[in-house]
Amino acid sequence: MKILLNNTSLFESLRPFNDLGFVPTMGGIHKGHLSLINKSNKLCKKTIVSIFVNPKQFNNKKDLKSYPRNINKDLKILKKSKKVDFVYLPKFKEIYNDKKKSKITLQKKDKILCAKFRKGHFEGVLDVMNKLTNIVKPKKIFMGEKDFQQLYLVKKELEKKYKTKVIPCKTIRDRNNVALSSRNFLLKKPNLVIAAKIYEKLVGIKKYIKKKKNIRSFLNLQKIELKNNYKIKIDYLELRNIKNLKISSTNKNSRLFIAYYLNNIRLIDNL
Ligand code: AMP
Repeated sequence: MKILLNNTSLFESLRPFNDLGFVPTMGGIHKGHLSLINKSNKLCKKTIVSIFVNPKQFNNKKDLKSYPRNINKDLKILKKSKKVDFVYLPKFKEIYNDKKKSKITLQKKDKILCAKFRKGHFEGVLDVMNKLTNIVKPKKIFMGEKDFQQLYLVKKELEKKYKTKVIPCKTIRDRNNVALSSRNFLLKKPNLVIAAKIYEKLVGIKKYIKKKKNIRSFLNLQKIELKNNYKIKIDYLELRNIKNLKISSTNKNSRLFIAYYLNNIRLIDNL
């Protein structure tokens, strides 16, 4: 596993390879990231993982400051997996080396879910993904369905501009079905117990939706119940079509999307 600390060594090391699988991360490596790496390892000749906490996609300074960072632990896990050929650890100036302002804007129809509640977040994500794709030039990029809206927007953005294919990967959960996330490192055990209960409740809600005529008002009631029962703040609880992310009135081709705060930590999930 070769560690690439700057673009010069990256360009030199990657030059011989054109069948590259790329797993972009912000570190805090967990089994969710490893599942993306496994898939890349199976489908591509070489796998490169990046670890870069992109400040431009944080709409909240506190969140950026507290984001879990443990590069030595991350490198140990990646090395142990034996599935990673290169790890790219760029500095800020390596990615943002031109002074030009990003031209990325979201279409009105995409200003939903997290885009509505985290102003500027996806503009930052799309900007950094453009830059990383230009630098790494991967054949395939592996991204998790846990961040479904991110996957949807990045796929749409990159596949129209580059030859790169964005490959969706299933959400990996802990033994209590809580979706793995680097932010879970910031949670205490009792918070994770609540997250598991919320997951159970969401499974029930999703099942029950089939029987409901007015899904929107049913979900609004469920939102209030979840808020009251678990003392959480909920940004959204919505059923949306997986092809276009429009509000859905049937379970078919749809997922239930939630974003909520547990102990001031923002968690998202979809099922
Ligand atoms: P992050 O480091 O949180 O920016 O995530 C890097 C990549 O890993 C993104 O494509 C995420 O969607 C993906 N990812 C994060 N958590 C999970 C999970 N529990 N299961 C599958 N993929 C995940």
